[in-house]
Amino acid sequence: EIPIIAIDGPSASGKGTVAQLVAQELGYYYLDSGALYRLLALAAVGRGVPFDDEEGLARLAEGLTIRFEGGEVWLDGEQVGDAIRTEECGNGASRIAAYPRVRAALLDLQRAFLQAPGLVADGRDMGSVVFPGAMLKIFLTASAEVRADRRYKQLMGKGMHANIKQILHDIRQRDERDSARSVAPLQKCADASLLDTSSMTIVEAVDEVLAWFQQVCVR
Ligand code: C5P
Repeated sequence: EIPIIAIDGPSASGKGTVAQLVAQELGYYYLDSGALYRLLALAAVGRGVPFDDEEGLARLAEGLTIRFEGGEVWLDGEQVGDAIRTEECGNGASRIAAYPRVRAALLDLQRAFLQAPGLVADGRDMGSVVFPGAMLKIFLTASAEVRADRRYKQLMGKGMHANIKQILHDIRQRDERDSARSVAPLQKCADASLLDTSSMTIVEAVDEVLAWFQQVCVR
C-alpha cells in the first residue's frame, strides 16, 4: 500500500508550504488540490462559463488538460504562472468548489497523483473524501490574523498588489463559505491530528509532521 499524508486546513494556513517540504523531505509526490479548483475557476473565466453554472463547470472540469511539473502548472498546454494565485481566483475557486458535481468531476484527477513511493496531498477534503485511507491525516490551521499576515507577505513577495485589511476580510469570508457548504465542508475529520501553527515557524511545523509520520510508520 502506497503511503499517503493528507494535510487539510483553511486558506493561507501554510499547509501548502508545509506539505511541499514534507514531500520533498520524504521524496514523495505532492498534490496541491486547491490549485485544481483555482485552475477550473481560471478556465471558467477564460471560456465564459459563469460561476453559477454547475453543469457547465462540471463539464469543463471533465475536459481539463492539466500538467504539473517542477512547481509549474500548465492548463491546456499553456503555462499558468501566478494567475491562479490571485485572491480573485481563490474566491472563484471557493465558489465553484461548493458544487457536488464539480467536486465529483475532479476526484479521479486528484487520485491519479497517487504514485509510489508516496503522496502528500493538501486541501480541504483530502483525509475525509479523496484519500480516506491515508496513513496520516493532519488538520493544519492558524488564526485568521496570522493567516492574513502570511498571505500578505506571500503576495508582496511576488510583487503582487495586496491590502492586509481586504485579505483578512476575504479570508474570514472564505472560511465561512468553505465551512457552511453542504459538500466537503472545511472541518477537522475525527481521525485527523490538529496542528495549530499560529506561533510556529514553517520548519517547526514540518518537523512536527515528520515526527508524527515516523510514529505511524513504526506502528
Ligand atoms: O487551498 P486554496 O486556497 O488554494 O483553495 C482554493 C479554494 O478551493 C478553497 O477556498 C476551497 O473552497 C477550494 N478547495 C476545496 N477542496 C480542496 C481544495 C480547495 O474545496 N481539496
